[in-house]
Amino acid sequence: MTDRKTELAENLARVEERIASACAAAGRRRDEVTLIVVTKTYPASDVRLLHALGVRHVAENRDQDAAPKAAACADLDLTWHFVGQLQTNKVRSVAGYADMVQSVDRSKLIGSLSAAAVRAERELGCLIQVALDAESGARGERGGVAPDGIEELAALVAEAPGLRLDGLMTVAPLAGEYAGRQRAAFERLVEFSSRLRADHPAANMVSAGMSADLEEAVAAGATHVRVGTAVLGVRPRLG
Ligand SMILES: *Cc1c(COP(=O)(O)O)cnc(C)c1O
Repeated sequence: MTDRKTELAENLARVEERIASACAAAGRRRDEVTLIVVTKTYPASDVRLLHALGVRHVAENRDQDAAPKAAACADLDLTWHFVGQLQTNKVRSVAGYADMVQSVDRSKLIGSLSAAAVRAERELGCLIQVALDAESGARGERGGVAPDGIEELAALVAEAPGLRLDGLMTVAPLAGEYAGRQRAAFERLVEFSSRLRADHPAANMVSAGMSADLEEAVAAGATHVRVGTAVLGVRPRLG
């Protein structure tokens, strides 16, 4: 193995052990939690190595970086998740390679995503991004809709051609009542997920938890964790 492949393999093994321990501690089966590796700022060559090491889900947050990377890895069987704040003028590009958009947080975006998915003849999985610290009717600083806006967006996604409502996503808030309380934040998201499933039973994905707080997410009931630095290393630049 190359040095980089060895490094990634070791990091992946450590993350895998953390997820497995968290599942065991929570009385959950390991296969209830899917690892998504966030490859933002890292090159396509790393994505290729990760694929060789068994990774099947990757995430990106900027279309400018993600589009060429996905193109360079088009021969690999990977599920691409888009997890960044999405401008409507990037939607057509994102709909060309993303399988899932986890950052759906406003109605205008849903219209654009639907049109782009239909045009590309693809079905896009969508998660509503929830900003647990956002005021009613507002969006979070890092994207996400306030909790009282979930239902409306979910109904729009469910009715939109080319889109599939898959569940909810959040990033632990840095401010407000959930600041520093990841476990409570993720448990709140899981409550919103239960409510959502009353109307949309198939929308059972709960995407929560990153390198620093994946244990809290698994304990709370997350189905997907999004891990970047713990697998790839500290990012060379902000992303
Ligand atoms: C970067 C990013 C992650 C991964 O964060 P790490 O701390 O590097 O694990 C997860 N989710 C989103 C939305 C991100 O932008």
